[in-house]
Amino acid sequence: MILVLSLSITQEEKEKLKETLRSEDYLVREIIGVEETIIGVVGKIRRDISYYEALPGVAKAIPISKPYKLVSRELHPAPSIIKIGDVAIGGDRLVVIAGPCGVEDRQRTLDIARAVRRSGAVLFRGGAFKPRTSPYSFQGLGEEGLKILQEVREETGLGVVTEMTAPGQADLMVKYVDAVQIGARNMQNFELLKCAGRIGKPVLLKRGLSATIEEWLMSAEYILSEGNDQVILCERGIRTFEPYTRNTLDLTAVPVVKKLTHLPIIVDPSHATGLREKVSPMARAAIAAGADGLIIEVHTEPDKALSDGPQSLYPDQFEQLMRDLYVIAPVVGKQLDYTYLDKAMMMRRLRDQGSTAETPAVPAAYSGVPGSFTHKACLQFFGPDVPFRACSSFREVFDLVDREEATFGILPLENSLTGSIHENYDLLLEYDLKIAGEVTLRIKHNLIGHENATLNGIQRIYSHPQIFRQCKEFLEQHPAWDLVACQDTATSVSRVKENHDPTEAAIAGDEAARLYGMVVLKEGIEMSPRNFTRFVVISKKGTLPGLKNKTSLIYSVSDRPGSLFETLRVFAEHHINLVKLESRPIHDRPWEYLFYVDVEVDMSDESNRHLLDQLRAKTEYFKFLGSYQKGAAALPAARKE
Ligand code: PEP
Ligand code: MN
Repeated sequence: MILVLSLSITQEEKEKLKETLRSEDYLVREIIGVEETIIGVVGKIRRDISYYEALPGVAKAIPISKPYKLVSRELHPAPSIIKIGDVAIGGDRLVVIAGPCGVEDRQRTLDIARAVRRSGAVLFRGGAFKPRTSPYSFQGLGEEGLKILQEVREETGLGVVTEMTAPGQADLMVKYVDAVQIGARNMQNFELLKCAGRIGKPVLLKRGLSATIEEWLMSAEYILSEGNDQVILCERGIRTFEPYTRNTLDLTAVPVVKKLTHLPIIVDPSHATGLREKVSPMARAAIAAGADGLIIEVHTEPDKALSDGPQSLYPDQFEQLMRDLYVIAPVVGKQLDYTYLDKAMMMRRLRDQGSTAETPAVPAAYSGVPGSFTHKACLQFFGPDVPFRACSSFREVFDLVDREEATFGILPLENSLTGSIHENYDLLLEYDLKIAGEVTLRIKHNLIGHENATLNGIQRIYSHPQIFRQCKEFLEQHPAWDLVACQDTATSVSRVKENHDPTEAAIAGDEAARLYGMVVLKEGIEMSPRNFTRFVVISKKGTLPGLKNKTSLIYSVSDRPGSLFETLRVFAEHHINLVKLESRPIHDRPWEYLFYVDVEVDMSDESNRHLLDQLRAKTEYFKFLGSYQKGAAALPAARKE
């Protein structure tokens, strides 16, 4: 049962309520949402629902219809993000766990770990206790294997995930690993589930070979009911009549599970297919289906693997798969970040500094509110744990970063349908700050309104003026609608909500609809589905980890034939790809222009200093905006050995 608390409930009343419920032997969980706070009450409901509704501080009592309670979306409407060390599963960035089936020997394991880390894996897998179908097969190295996993973490920074096959291994798990896997064969080993619930580590719960989704969720419920809500579900294929693959990958489980539970779900295409050549297609499909990540078996010499060699990818195949996922991720609103772990380490340092410094700086500032696209860009670039400062204007972000009250700032700079956001280019000219990073988001717009609203009844639309332009064709079909400008998309949704008027709607992303409990009246109303916005990360001194392969410049040239050509010749002669060239009028100097140039090269590198010198010599005004790693929707960074 869910108790929705009244907004006026006092802390004292809330504690009293929880005490009353606990005294009746209920399991009590408080869930604080953006809009309301609810208390999940789990146990046999013995009284009429009106009794609970009459308790002081309770606004509404709703029975949970499903047999699983703690894992259900009804109890916890927002998706849960599960942390394994610095890695967050269930958020805006894909998490790929990779490694061998079993830990075989130290050198081999470290080699595989280095390879998968280089290709963008953020966690390492490897079994030390292998549940094998035959008692004569390799059973794993036991504690020796766990020690090797510990070494992997120390050397590469990859958190390690390994399977626990018996409650007796609990102490070893606590000592050596970052997350515990419950294998398919043990999904209904209830004593093991209870034990996993008690050891306080995140649990990766695989789906049983022949388990229904409901049975699987009931197994997750066992872990949560022991007080551990750090559970990640893993679809790994089920047994069917089909002999061509080892199992049948049930990808439908991804959207089904997403609807039924708040827990994240990842997919294991290795055990699902059993065949190397089938792994990458299924991995790509899993991400397209909305999975939060993947767990993939990789081996440097699969032919010699002691278990599951035929389904293990070669490191090169894994690298290629990751490049594909890098491109697919933004299409489904996610990001694969090659600098994930290095960035996380850096942000942790900034956070720690912030808490001890005399004048603490927030790690990052953005203009907008939660649910806006810029907020999503922050989450995709920095992850969910970074304390962000929400600003009410672009200039405020520049000011904060300039005064070093925020180390980084995130701003939209360009949209693929409507072009540059000139206000930010102008601010980049005005302030002496550098572009340190870039992130590209696919922008999907929805018409969002009240539950009882109909498209025909709409009269007024709120959103950012840029967004109106991105949805021009759709809006032209409704010429009578009154368009009202708002500072950002999420703010427009909150205004519509506050106004309680079913003739009003907002245009925003689906996250804003979810956050404010509003309804999507029409999905995907942007002019083209290839609608991307490029956000840049600005900073005064901060640099970001990773290869720099793009540079942004602003310059003007003298008023004589060939002067622009002379600057472009520098790029041509050095085989540098020009990816953007835009001219903008110079304020107060009619018919004179500034050129905004992006090129694919690192000009911050000492070895390329001559490029800057040559360009300075050929221009009248020259501003180096920064060198950084280009964001997704472009190709990933070249492999760095
Ligand atoms: C494994 O991950 O190596 C494994 C044994 O998986 P499953 O339990 O899904 O068969
Ligand atoms: Mn395996």
